[in-house]
Amino acid sequence: MALLLPLVVIGGYFCPRLGFTVLALITFFLVLASKRGRFYCGWFCPMGAFHERVLSHISLKRSILPVFKSSWFRWLLFILMMGLMCFSLFVAWGDAKALGDAFRRMWIISTGLAIGLGVYFRPRVWCSICPMGSLQGVSSRNTYLLSVSDDCIGCKICQQVCPIETYPGAYKEQGHVPSIDCLRCSNCIMNCPKKALAFLKNLPSNAEGHLEK
Ligand code: SF4
Ligand code: SF4
Repeated sequence: MALLLPLVVIGGYFCPRLGFTVLALITFFLVLASKRGRFYCGWFCPMGAFHERVLSHISLKRSILPVFKSSWFRWLLFILMMGLMCFSLFVAWGDAKALGDAFRRMWIISTGLAIGLGVYFRPRVWCSICPMGSLQGVSSRNTYLLSVSDDCIGCKICQQVCPIETYPGAYKEQGHVPSIDCLRCSNCIMNCPKKALAFLKNLPSNAEGHLEK
């Protein structure tokens, strides 16, 4: 998937219609989010794969700033980026090449921001504020959530292996990590020494979900 990013960003210069790949990916992750939350972020996102495969070699891997975890910052970025995208699409409306180029331009802007942040902070820091990730998070509030059982001893190993530094142990009382803060990558599940983490399937409001076997 990591190769898709340079293919669209660079190849789109010669063939602007390649920008529609972004639209196809948006459609794909919205459908997937209804069943698996932000699973796309953890397993399919070309930007995420690029950051893990390439950026991780040059990243200084500093801790993510607390502001990146705050709702107001996340949603401010969402409004700015969505506003810019809607404006670009409005200007390009009626011209397929210009529309493809508008999608590609948005990918270039987010990739530029993500690389800049990922070099200084953790490689996938962008994933904690990505507007597309936020969109998946709010459209899957009760879907495939990461549950935290009473077996958790608060060792914080889960936070150390999480690409966006989410700390599942902090949600022991609540029972599960909020959808928006989890990429469903499974790193923490595989590393938890107490086997206190698992994904819940389709958690209905005010009711317990069923542990995925
Ligand atoms: S790794 Fe497991 S036991 Fe340790 S804090 Fe995280 S959930 Fe709790
Ligand atoms: S909380 Fe666990 S499953 Fe979610 S992104 Fe972090 S490491 Fe991956």
